[in-house]
Amino acid sequence: MNLSSITAPIVSRLAPTPSGYLHLGNAVNFVLTWLLTRRAGGTLHLRIDDLDRQRLRPAYLDNIFQTIEWLGLDYDHGPSGPEDFETNFSQLHHLGEYQQLLDELRQVPDLLYACRCSRTDIQRAGGQHPDATCQAQRLPLDTPETAWRAHVPNGLTIEFQDLWQPQVAVPLAADIGDFVVRKKDGVAAYQIASVVDDIRLGTTLIVRGLDLLPSTAAQLWLASQAKCTAAFGHVQFAHHALLPGADGEKLSKSTQASIQRGIMAEAGSPRVVYATVARLLGLPDAAGESLATLSWGIPNRLSS
Ligand SMILES: [Zn+2]
Repeated sequence: MNLSSITAPIVSRLAPTPSGYLHLGNAVNFVLTWLLTRRAGGTLHLRIDDLDRQRLRPAYLDNIFQTIEWLGLDYDHGPSGPEDFETNFSQLHHLGEYQQLLDELRQVPDLLYACRCSRTDIQRAGGQHPDATCQAQRLPLDTPETAWRAHVPNGLTIEFQDLWQPQVAVPLAADIGDFVVRKKDGVAAYQIASVVDDIRLGTTLIVRGLDLLPSTAAQLWLASQAKCTAAFGHVQFAHHALLPGADGEKLSKSTQASIQRGIMAEAGSPRVVYATVARLLGLPDAAGESLATLSWGIPNRLSS
């Protein structure tokens, strides 16, 4: 990654979901996002994705704020704590904006269709949505108890420039196929909310793990279908490698444990996180001592 190629001004965000305790991967992503944004003199938002209210627990919400503090990070805009979040920042305050994008997308010919499939139907089909069946039924989109799916054309590949990875090409149809944009309860799905929120915040840089490449491709493609989300096409992405571990097995065990209790409870000190970030950035071990040493050590160019 050539950091000097990051176009100013940078606006980025930490975007956790309060559906579990934050694990090492989340913490590493926070530190990387903070470092890249601060280095560019940019603005950082805290954006909490709580649309999946059934999985939200107050302890998970608290854990987000505690983990950010534990890591020594700051942000410029966003909720100051759980109460402020619920009152002023919950995604529930933006349902109308998500609906606006859905309304625009439903005008695009052959893009959305209603899907009646249950979880069991999809499991029976081997975990893949049996696209042809639902699409052929051509149910009206307003049929009760249906989700809306976006039809990804066969063979569609999404290409984009990434700041960290070589030229990226995601075979979207093969990787995720027709995906849900509105759930059966009528609420927008993650991809819709994420795009709309990033546009509202004026996000220009998104730092994510490589596991989210298909999600990025889905969002870029979806955003390109509507006028109100055209600006999303200018967002720059930096996808980082997943956690490097000298001992793969050991890492997966600790990852398992940290999902149960969260990285804060699992690791005695945030140095575990800083050290992992240093390795991801290809820095000497000494750079992983603290946030300050990471900030000083961050090179201009990063190789993937
Ligand atoms: Zn279906």
